[in-house]
Amino acid sequence: MTATLYIIATPIGNLEDITYRAVRILGEVDLVAAEDTRHSLKLLNHFNISKPLTSYFDHNQQFKGERILNALRQGKSVALISDAGTPCISDPGYNLVRDAVSEGIPVVPIPGACAAIAALSGSGLPSDSFTFAGFPPARQAKRRVFLADMAALPGTLVLYEAPHRLEETLRDIREVLGERQLVVARELSKIYEEFIRGTATEVMAAVAQGKARGEIVILIAPGEAVQEPTEALDTLLLRLMDEEKLSVKDAARKAAMITGTSRNEAYSEALRLRHADEQS
Ligand code: SAM
Repeated sequence: MTATLYIIATPIGNLEDITYRAVRILGEVDLVAAEDTRHSLKLLNHFNISKPLTSYFDHNQQFKGERILNALRQGKSVALISDAGTPCISDPGYNLVRDAVSEGIPVVPIPGACAAIAALSGSGLPSDSFTFAGFPPARQAKRRVFLADMAALPGTLVLYEAPHRLEETLRDIREVLGERQLVVARELSKIYEEFIRGTATEVMAAVAQGKARGEIVILIAPGEAVQEPTEALDTLLLRLMDEEKLSVKDAARKAAMITGTSRNEAYSEALRLRHADEQS
């Protein structure tokens, strides 16, 4: 094998979801770089693969990336895997691939499982156009701005979410994006695989009954680009700045999205209101 960086997808639950090609290449490379070596050792053992393993995760990327590049520069072949699914998709890998590409080192993806794609393919929501946006921000104010920024996108929106944040994220989705059709896809390819489908309110009710533990993908059907304004611009801005504690900029951005007003106009109005508030 010549120096090549293989980006290998591994199962997201069901071990049968690894490909023949992935198993063959994992058995042929000189080195396997894994997010969590103990976790990946179990996968390699399952397929009777014995290879030198090195860790490559979020907090050692810079230092480990250089060592992996060195191995590649010396003509070694390296496989990058993550704990589950496709590396680089809400997982480490991008920096390493970017650096390998910039040095002219061949990068070969070995396709396979990805939770976002599995969820979309089984969701029943439009799949001709979609946006995958990874994990929403953990803090509510940022999460709402993040959702508002995506309100006008034309296709299905695909998000990852941790189970303990699911309820609050669904609440924000309903508030910011309105009553759209949603799908919560959980535990894909595992024993308790489940698709919870319905309006935002229906899905929230099902989730509130304790139905959504485990690993989760949220899918949001496309909606109208601009929602009907329910509040005047100034009332909405005041609420966003005073109650939701958004900055002038974030409040203007969200209000523009909700009311269909231009961002500039919403920003000027937000500044005027903030100024008037400071004078009083
Ligand atoms: N690289 C992975 C991929 O290709 O899907 C994603 C890694 S990301 C750190 C982990 C998140 O993916 C989980 O929190 C969950 O949102 C989603 N996920 C992973 N496995 C899943 C599964 N079996 N069912 C549903 N969602 C899953």
